[in-house]
Amino acid sequence: MYLTLRGSYICCDCTNLREPALITPPMMELTKGIYKIQGLNVLDICKEFGTPLYVYDTDKISEQIQNLKNAFSDNDVRIKYAAKALTNISILKHIHSQGCGIDVVSINEAKLAMKAGFEPKEIMFTPSCVDFEEIIEGVELGVFINLDNLSVLEKFGKKYGSTYPCCIRLNPHILAGGNYKISTGHGNSKFGISVFQMPQILEIVGKYKIDINGLHIHTGSEISETDVYLKMSEILFGVARDFPSLKFIDFGSGFKVAYRENDNVTNIYDLGLKLGKAFKEFYESYGKKLELWVEPGKYLVSESGYLFVNTNVVKSTPSVTFAGVNSGLNHLIRPMMYDAYHEIVNVSNPDGGLKMYTVVGNICETDTLGSDRKLNEVREGDILAIKNAGAYGYSMASTFNSRLRPAEVMIKKGKAHLIRQRDTMEDLIRGQVIVD
Ligand SMILES: *Cc1c(COP(=O)(O)O)cnc(C)c1O
Repeated sequence: MYLTLRGSYICCDCTNLREPALITPPMMELTKGIYKIQGLNVLDICKEFGTPLYVYDTDKISEQIQNLKNAFSDNDVRIKYAAKALTNISILKHIHSQGCGIDVVSINEAKLAMKAGFEPKEIMFTPSCVDFEEIIEGVELGVFINLDNLSVLEKFGKKYGSTYPCCIRLNPHILAGGNYKISTGHGNSKFGISVFQMPQILEIVGKYKIDINGLHIHTGSEISETDVYLKMSEILFGVARDFPSLKFIDFGSGFKVAYRENDNVTNIYDLGLKLGKAFKEFYESYGKKLELWVEPGKYLVSESGYLFVNTNVVKSTPSVTFAGVNSGLNHLIRPMMYDAYHEIVNVSNPDGGLKMYTVVGNICETDTLGSDRKLNEVREGDILAIKNAGAYGYSMASTFNSRLRPAEVMIKKGKAHLIRQRDTMEDLIRGQVIVD
């Protein structure tokens, strides 16, 4: 028996009574005509730090972490935040303070994580197609290593034998996820070692007596069906018996969050219940208790983030009214790259009449942030908030068109903190070698 955050007792056999944790009011709220985050007027934040501006609400991140912990509370769950979604060190520190580990995809992300206070043993390094030197560097740092290629496994075995444990990333040949570009577990994906290559894996592992301490599958982003994870887990459990020294199984991520109202999302509680149960059954027959790892990126940080932009121009043509803003695909590439939908709100004019707009950026290229959106009347100078900007926003930002990347602000305990300065002209010039 344990106490849920809502105060009702539930027993282990009827855990389907679980409900999502509600530890904070949800994110940006409109009260008395003012949009606020943690009680702070968002227009004041924009005035203080300028726009375009990324703003992150740490309460939302904490809430998502708590949701995951509750959902998987029947298992020894380890949350390894996928750093590539948002790598600001202050955010990493916050996530670390909430009891999470971290998944990194480059040696530089590993170093950022260590700068944020993560111990090497809390870091999982899951690289794809990197130079073997980078893996050696990972071993030297002392982080967990996740290998996804037979030739790399062979090199690893030759160099380390049984002296340094590693994890194997498998490709389960499942096509799932929101978009082909973000699907990583299908047969034609570059990720993971195909489950059909198990004989070769076992041969290499046997030859060098490699200590395999974990198995991993990550099938891509935005998977809403619990069944996909269950199917994936069956594949993992099927092969796991061939590896006697496992300590964990890593189910990756792909947990989907709502980008618009009524989006179907990953039901974390349903997943925790069903996957948790299957996992328990598996490790009981395997013979020892294993840790259950997950690697959420988007799930932890997407909804915590907002990109605030200023409306430079309102431009009406005979067919469309554009709101042209001081940002674009250089700062948030998801709409153009993945056809992603990001909700947009006019935070300067909450009482304005609703009109139709296409919100576009200032990049010289088709640069649409949102088409045909019903917004409260947009006037030049109005601030718009682009939602769900926490994941793959700043971390994919560029200086295309020689425009500067935005500043980042973290709201924590009701206070706004600058956590990254806006780029300056010097940043554009730094590193250039000027030759006549
Ligand atoms: C990107 C990535 C994730 C996170 O995916 P999300 O959809 O953001 O949760 C997890 N694991 C690995 C290995 C990744 O590359």
